[in-house]
Amino acid sequence: MKRARVLVVEDEEALRIALVDALRAEGYEVLEAADGERGLELALREAPELVLLDLMLPRRDGFSVLRAIREDRLQSAVIVLSARGEEWDRIQGFEFGADDYVVKPFSTRELFGRMRAVLQRLEGRAPGLPADVGKISIGGAQVDFAAYTIERDGARAGLARKELELLRYLLEHEGQVLDRMRIQDAVWGRESESTPRTVDMHVLKLRRKLECEPERPRHILTVHGVGYRFSRGGEGPPKS
Ligand code: CA
Repeated sequence: MKRARVLVVEDEEALRIALVDALRAEGYEVLEAADGERGLELALREAPELVLLDLMLPRRDGFSVLRAIREDRLQSAVIVLSARGEEWDRIQGFEFGADDYVVKPFSTRELFGRMRAVLQRLEGRAPGLPADVGKISIGGAQVDFAAYTIERDGARAGLARKELELLRYLLEHEGQVLDRMRIQDAVWGRESESTPRTVDMHVLKLRRKLECEPERPRHILTVHGVGYRFSRGGEGPPKS
């Protein structure tokens, strides 16, 4: 098995050095960054399998890094290194698509356990989980809800949290004509700053990852003047 590459983004030097040493001793390939800006740059350029991400960072905070990873590059798993008592952070972390979190101070043993679980999930080998739980195929694409990924034609793309929720909603309402406002209410909620345009933007992103020809979608179909209709099997012009 290929050695997993891990990016450590942590500004506390002693902790970062300790982590890097421990990870190398465990056989991981390690990249490191002491601020959020550099961390994001490395994440996007090197696409490591896993990012260990501190939240309070100079130049760009961990949430912003996580959001950018999920929106732009997306494949890497992220474990947030959170300060003790910041329960709020945990919620935010998952909202932005963190795969797991550990609370400081943590033991390397605990961290390695979490890392192995996340990396296994990433490879679709979640222990004890039946293969069909959390994974479905849509046309020629495989969606993994636990790993936030879509795989099509051998290429894997990550899914942002809201893209995943939107897809789940579409699946649950397959075949129904769905008004954009209804989708917006269900996925984003009335209180949020979303608009029907937010729905359209996320549909575009999903189509690019899901459809063979995003300009001629066969699964997320436009219903003119209303919204969308989802077909898991695919409709319209056949795949050529
Ligand atoms: Ca910090």
